[in-house]
Amino acid sequence: MNETASLRARAEIDLDALRANVRVLRERAAGAQLMAVLKSDAYGHGALPCARAAREAGATWLGTATPQEALALRAGGLDGRVLCWLWTPGGPWAEAIEADVDVSVSALWALREVVAVAGAVGRAARIHLKADTGLGRNGCRPADWPVLVTEALAAEKAGRVRIAGLWSHFACADEPGHPSIAAQLGVFRDMVAYAEKEGVEPEVRHLANSPATLTLPEAHFDLVRTGIAMYGISPSPELGTPADLGLRPVMTFAASLALVKDAPAGHGVSYGHHYTTPADTTLGLIPVGYADGVPRHASGRGPVLVGGRTRTVAGRVAMDQFVVDLGGDRPEPGAEAVLFGPGDRGEPSVEDWAVAADTIGYEIVTRIGSRVPRVYVGERAAPRPGAHGSGGSGPHENPTDDD
Ligand SMILES: *Cc1c(COP(=O)(O)O)cnc(C)c1O
Repeated sequence: MNETASLRARAEIDLDALRANVRVLRERAAGAQLMAVLKSDAYGHGALPCARAAREAGATWLGTATPQEALALRAGGLDGRVLCWLWTPGGPWAEAIEADVDVSVSALWALREVVAVAGAVGRAARIHLKADTGLGRNGCRPADWPVLVTEALAAEKAGRVRIAGLWSHFACADEPGHPSIAAQLGVFRDMVAYAEKEGVEPEVRHLANSPATLTLPEAHFDLVRTGIAMYGISPSPELGTPADLGLRPVMTFAASLALVKDAPAGHGVSYGHHYTTPADTTLGLIPVGYADGVPRHASGRGPVLVGGRTRTVAGRVAMDQFVVDLGGDRPEPGAEAVLFGPGDRGEPSVEDWAVAADTIGYEIVTRIGSRVPRVYVGERAAPRPGAHGSGGSGPHENPTDDD
C-alpha cells in the first residue's frame, strides 16, 4: 500500500489529463486563443498546479471570478494574461493594475473606480467591457452600452485605460438549439459592432464557455473561456459523456475504508435510520461526509466503488462519514473506496454523483472540501532560472508535447 492509499481521503488530480483536455479544446477552437478558467480554486482541483499545467498545454489566458483569485495566481508565479470579472465597489483595483491583471467592467461605477485608481497608480488599466446579451446576470444591458462605451473611450484617450476586450456570457449554451443562443450571438455581434464603430479596437472579443466551445464554432471569436471541460467533466448530459467529447476526467475522489462489520437484518443505519438492513449483512464505513463535499442530498443514492462493486450510500450522509451495505462482502479496512474518477476501474463518474444529488458536475467537484488533500499526478518541476527546458519530474514528464 503506498503512502497515498493510506490517507483517509484524497482527491487525485491528473495534470496530464488536464493538459490533454486543454489540447482537445484548443483543437476544437482552432483560430481562437484559450482561457483556462480557474475560479474557485480551479473548480476544486487546485488553482496553481492547474494554471501551470494549462499554460504548459497552450492556454494563453487565465481567468478567475474574483480579483483575489487573480492576484493569487500572480503571487504563485503565473505570468501572462489573466482576466478577472467579479468586482464589487472598493475592490483591489490598484493591486490588479500593478499586477498587470486585466479587469472586467460591466457598469459605470466600475469604470469610474478603475479610471480614478489608474490615474493614482499612473498606469493604464486593461479593461474588458462586458455586455449582458441576454444572460440577465452580470454585464451591461444594450440600452446602457452607448454611455459605457463613450465614457470608456474617453478614458482610453486620456491614457487611463486600454479597452482590451469586449465580451459576454451565454445563458443556455449547454442546451444546443435553445433559441436564446442565436439571440445572444446576434446581440453580441451588434454590441461589438457598435463599440468598434465608435472607435474601440479590442484585442479579443470573447463569448464561449465550455459548451459553446464544444458545440458552437460561430461563438469562438478570438478567445474561448473553458472551465468544466478542461477538468474533463461534461457540461451537461445533453452534450454526452466526457469520453464522447474526447475529454478525460481530471479528479479522482477516493477514501480508505475505515471499518467493516457484521450487522443483523433490521438494523437501522446512520442518522434518522433512513436505511434498515434488509437481511444479515456487512456494513462498510466510508470516512468522508458532507464536510468533505459528499452531498447530503445524495443520501440513499450516491454510488461508490468498494471491493470491486458499486455500492450505494446507505441512509444519510453525515458530516464526516457515511455507510454502505456490503451485502456480506468483507473487503479489508484500508481498502480503497472510489466515489468518482475517470472510470478506468469501473468507478462512478462526477456526472453520476450530479444525478444522485440533483445537481450538476460543476457543484460536485467545486464543493470537495479543504480537508481533502489534493494529490497531484503529472506535475512538472518549475523551470530553474538559467536552466534549459522545463526541468524534469519523473515518469509523467513529456516536455515535447506542448507548444
Ligand atoms: C465560469 C465561467 C466560465 C467557464 O464556464 P464553463 O462552463 O465551466 O466552461 C466562462 N466565463 C464566465 C464568465 C464564467 O463565469
